[in-house]
Amino acid sequence: MSDYSQEEVVGLLSDLIKINTSNPPGNEMEAVQYCARYLSSFGIEPKIIESSPKRANLVARIKGTGRTPFLLTGHIDTVPADERGWKFPPFSGAVQEGAVWGRGALDMKHFIAMSMVVLKELKAEGFSPKRDIILAITCDEEEGSQAGARYLVEKHPELIDAEFGLGEVGGFSMNIGGRRLYPVMTSEKGFAWLKITAEGDSGHGSMPVFRNALGRLGLAAWRLSNIPLPLHITNDASVFLKTIGDLAGIKGKFLRLLLYNLTNEIVTDNLIRNVNQKKYFRALLRNTASPAVFSGGDKVNVIPRTAYLKVDLRYLPGISLEEAVDEVREVVGDDVTIEVESYGDPVQFESRTELFDVIKRVVENEDKSAVVTPYMSPGFTDAKYFSRRKITVYGFTPLKLDGDFSYTQLIHSENERVPADSLIWGKNLLKQLVKEYCG
Ligand SMILES: [Zn+2]
Repeated sequence: MSDYSQEEVVGLLSDLIKINTSNPPGNEMEAVQYCARYLSSFGIEPKIIESSPKRANLVARIKGTGRTPFLLTGHIDTVPADERGWKFPPFSGAVQEGAVWGRGALDMKHFIAMSMVVLKELKAEGFSPKRDIILAITCDEEEGSQAGARYLVEKHPELIDAEFGLGEVGGFSMNIGGRRLYPVMTSEKGFAWLKITAEGDSGHGSMPVFRNALGRLGLAAWRLSNIPLPLHITNDASVFLKTIGDLAGIKGKFLRLLLYNLTNEIVTDNLIRNVNQKKYFRALLRNTASPAVFSGGDKVNVIPRTAYLKVDLRYLPGISLEEAVDEVREVVGDDVTIEVESYGDPVQFESRTELFDVIKRVVENEDKSAVVTPYMSPGFTDAKYFSRRKITVYGFTPLKLDGDFSYTQLIHSENERVPADSLIWGKNLLKQLVKEYCG
């Protein structure tokens, strides 16, 4: 087993994992101060922006000579972790079995560690960039970015304004048909949190009324979880499916059939065995609506007048909120009313850009079996807020991974870890990329 004690990016990530930033409550200040000390140690003077008590963001900048700024961004908070089921405790930052273990190892303290070491190495090499390189470390992403990216964008836009940047989610390799596929996130879905309300006659439980509020609502929930919303093929989805279709041999032929109304459901239901893939391909090609909170009534012998259901609606780039809500209405019917409680628009970035070309070139150079493709994330990231400042933030945190390592399954799960070799490879690739794009 290799010795990683001399590898700065490994030690740095391990240290960051040891500082618990589980959100809620986040309490990211200590970790942010740690990063600030690290950056100061080689002459970068970061700004710490406190957004609420114990919550902070950090912005640092290496001055360039005039082209539009470039942004590297990562959130330092993580989802919580239950100690059970972990081989090494989630906040130990253990470097064991060739990996760095712990909550945040992949989501996404690894990218913060990589970015900071890249800045240090570039400084040491005397690299003088043609554009400003900005590092933005945010808090609160896992709970909606209110105190984090959103706060920066709304209160301190001058600190983060850039034309292009890199953040999550993407750049991790997946082995398909003997090649390594590197997805680069170029779009993400929007979300809308809906409150669906049903009304009916109330009364005593001993004298039932037909079609009461809970019954109406139950039917709406049943319909939403059984009837898929219509198929929509976005450009990113089509490119992504065709790319993996070409790589995946005979199985790939089936994947292409996902692009057609007539065959989509047959393929999803019968030919894709892997449950996670099934879910992803559904989310890639449709708006989705998940019933999540069901509420109404508080006494067993009283029939309530109203009941409500909270639904997590995710909608595709190119579709308006109104259109997406109409699709939900079509499924649940007129018996209930729908309100939008909060929402965030989808994000769609152009993929024919200089930065995308540089990513492709550098990755293909460093990994001869690489295939780089745009893809869409069904979740949402800080990119949603950066895009409001017209900053294109691709999801690209590079990791070259072995075939049996499942990035997507370890995120937010027990035994989250990153192979140390992949981390070092990613750091070197990121440095190469920054030098090419900013040099
Ligand atoms: Zn994340």
